[in-house]
Amino acid sequence: MRDVFGRPLRSLRISVTDRCNMRCRYCMPEDEYVWLPRESILTFEEIERLVRVFSELGVDKVRLTGGEPLLRHELATLVALLDRVRGLKDLALTTNGLLLARQAEALRRAGLARVTVSLDTLRPERMREFAKSARHADVVAGIQAARQLGFHHLKLNSVVVRGFNDDELADLIEFGRSHDAEVRFIEYMDVGGATRWTRDQVVPQREILERLTRRYGPIEPVATQESPAAPAVRFRLPDGTVFGVIASVTAPFCGSCDRSRLTADGTWFLCLYAARGVDLREPLRRGATDDELAGLIAGAWRGRSDRGAETRLGVAERGALYRLESLRADPHREMHTRGG
Ligand code: SAM
Ligand code: SF4
Ligand code: SF4
Repeated sequence: MRDVFGRPLRSLRISVTDRCNMRCRYCMPEDEYVWLPRESILTFEEIERLVRVFSELGVDKVRLTGGEPLLRHELATLVALLDRVRGLKDLALTTNGLLLARQAEALRRAGLARVTVSLDTLRPERMREFAKSARHADVVAGIQAARQLGFHHLKLNSVVVRGFNDDELADLIEFGRSHDAEVRFIEYMDVGGATRWTRDQVVPQREILERLTRRYGPIEPVATQESPAAPAVRFRLPDGTVFGVIASVTAPFCGSCDRSRLTADGTWFLCLYAARGVDLREPLRRGATDDELAGLIAGAWRGRSDRGAETRLGVAERGALYRLESLRADPHREMHTRGG
């Protein structure tokens, strides 16, 4: 099943909650938020049912995200349900790590294969200021627990923001190396929720590479074994250490994008930047059959023409994507609702 530009539907990010126990400045900088109504949140059985339908249509990669996914009660139960869905080759989780040390073992036992932990700084005082959390040690403990439990390809996501953590690129690489984890630097994106975004805070991929070259010597691109749709471009330092860069702002990868996003209340977004999503909860709860749900999903995907990040490249006076009032009017526009 292909969209208007021939892109297949393969990867699904599922936000299991819009709640979060951090307040990263690039994602949730405000003091107050409008939350999705509790009764609208999909049950595990509803999520599993949708994932089965998606997998019949070609989805073979699922990533659980949020908000903070580990705030969802009994997440390991959902992992176990999804682990049994035929056709899924890859089941992963993106977390801020605060609760990971406590839950990693249960998640691993339930069948979770891969974990990505977000880690922007190695300095606890910076995290306190930038993400309003004093629990840096818990994140590090979560990363250590994940490594000890043998999760494959442990990754660390670092959003690089000029004037905040752009002096820690090498430190993060060193930390990744010592924890057997691959660091991926992400350009700061002007997604919904990033209400303080300005162009000059983005550290472009080119600059990230220049800085690391000055520190380590020549860097070479790595021929990737991941799918061509994987957003990170991977590089190797002279000593063999591999890291990735996700250049979503300066070099968007919309041309090969096979991913879509399901919010915790069952709204399906065909692009991170899409203004509207497809309501799958309503038909699901009305009693639609699997065929009806599949028809709805297939029809929407075939008509998909989104290339959000590329379109943003052409915006002359580029600033925050949405103003605060507009986010409050519809929380589906928030990055923490769409799941990043
Ligand atoms: N709370 C979990 C976490 O932080 O890992 C999962 C959800 S979070 C929305 C998913 C990813 O989106 C994180 O790695 C985060 O760093 C990234 N993210 C959030 N806002 C971003 C922004 N404005 N630009 C780039 N990446 C962003
Ligand atoms: Fe930070 Fe993730 Fe929470 Fe957003 S959802 S505030 S990126 S921890
Ligand atoms: Fe895919 Fe939209 Fe992101 Fe482009 S902006 S890579 S189309 S989700």
